[in-house]
Amino acid sequence: MGDFISSKEEEFSKWYLDIVQKAKLIDYSPVKGCMVIMPYGYAIWERIKSILDDKFKETGHENAYFPLLIPYEFLEREKEHVKGFSPELAVITTAGGEELAEPLVLRPTSETIIWNMYSKWIKSYRDLPVKINQWANIIRWEKRTRPFLRTTEFLWQEGHTAHETAKEALEETLFILNLYKRFVEDYLAIPVFCGQKTEREKFAGAVSTYTIEALMQDKKALQAGTSHYLGLNFAKAFDVKFQNKKGEMDYVFATSWGVSTRLIGALIMVHSDNKGLILPPKIAPIEIIIVPIFKRDGDANQKILEYSIIIFNLLKEAKFRVELDRDVKNSPGFRFAAAELKGIPIRIEIGSNDIFMNCVTVARRDKDKNSKYQVSVEELSSKIRHELDIMQCELFNRALEFRNLHTKEIIGFKENDYDIFKTCINEHLGFVLSSWCGSEVCEESIKNDTKATIRCIPEDFQNRPLNGLTCIYCNAAAKHLVLFARSY
Ligand code: AMP
Repeated sequence: MGDFISSKEEEFSKWYLDIVQKAKLIDYSPVKGCMVIMPYGYAIWERIKSILDDKFKETGHENAYFPLLIPYEFLEREKEHVKGFSPELAVITTAGGEELAEPLVLRPTSETIIWNMYSKWIKSYRDLPVKINQWANIIRWEKRTRPFLRTTEFLWQEGHTAHETAKEALEETLFILNLYKRFVEDYLAIPVFCGQKTEREKFAGAVSTYTIEALMQDKKALQAGTSHYLGLNFAKAFDVKFQNKKGEMDYVFATSWGVSTRLIGALIMVHSDNKGLILPPKIAPIEIIIVPIFKRDGDANQKILEYSIIIFNLLKEAKFRVELDRDVKNSPGFRFAAAELKGIPIRIEIGSNDIFMNCVTVARRDKDKNSKYQVSVEELSSKIRHELDIMQCELFNRALEFRNLHTKEIIGFKENDYDIFKTCINEHLGFVLSSWCGSEVCEESIKNDTKATIRCIPEDFQNRPLNGLTCIYCNAAAKHLVLFARSY
């Protein structure tokens, strides 16, 4: 029927691309690396956006909008920033039929233009803190792209805050990291490890970068969001100073943080199956689809439709995101498959027998077809509410179990531990918690041997004593426990 999806177990990458297209989340654009986000894909983004937007506003952040075009020279003011972003920049040198006197870049991130503005807006301690977020599109000229996970143009939010003290800025960085963790775990049902990036992996221009890292079903890791402590780097580059309470001039401390449409890729890769998407109820644009089981005999159909409309209105009034499938042309089996492909958490089937019993039949997207059950109309709202809550929890627990099963510990004590480590990464993938001396040389060598990078120095394991532990690569004394993985 044209909606054949490759097997996740056999061809994970193809499976993913089949889902994003066949569930009508995206279509490819004429420009390589860009994607058209179609209405259903955009509806998922709108859910992510509205939930996060509320959370930012509840915690004292305001939205604003800064221009897409940034003078190239702004990027050059922060040495590390321009070095890191140069390979990915799209630069405009002609416009309006003329060569530009100063080249412009399409924003790869907005620290520079925002801190240029902050130099005008921040004069005194009374102006601080500034906590601005923007929802925007970003252009990074990526070499290898994949829908949602890594695209040349993507949508995101970027927060940019300014503070009087380093302590306050660091607190904000970690506050947002934790907000991201809670959002991704509670709404997207994706368990994440939180932690600091190494110097090699940190954001270009940051003092330190913190990340949330998730594990996909092919056992590769994905950086799902980042929060950066920028210290005084951008305040110095753009000369942003304020008069402190003692009347002295000080530089302003900065943070920046972002999550993008990549989160939709994570949702797909963590939960979905060979029938299509599986969406956690809290993020699903449609929580319930009502599928009337029409008969060949037209008389009964009118009754079935009327009853279905009553159920639809009842659920709508109870504030569910519900849709009624009025398709009379295709078979029930075809329509069930279409709802499954879209990952709608609950399907309500209504046939003559349901009407006779004053019931409906309820099926859950993540369960097999034998687990369908009938619910009386009086109990429907409360039963569905409960079922959606349980489904949300079960999806999280299933993903957590999977992640825990594929998180191994290979801590350095002895000479041959590195061989075991390599076998583990090469053959089993997943996260490997290991001990590391802190040297970039070891980090680089491990990457060359295994294609695995240090995803983060995870918070979860930092209270473990390091006494006697050695670097998995060089056997020198270990400085950190770190999580390695191959990643997207
Ligand atoms: P960064 O500013 O590099 O820390 O990026 C912030 C977040 O945006 C990252 O944690 C990713 O989740 C996401 N991101 C970065 N590059 C891309 C891309 N090319 N496509 C989609 N999302 C991206």
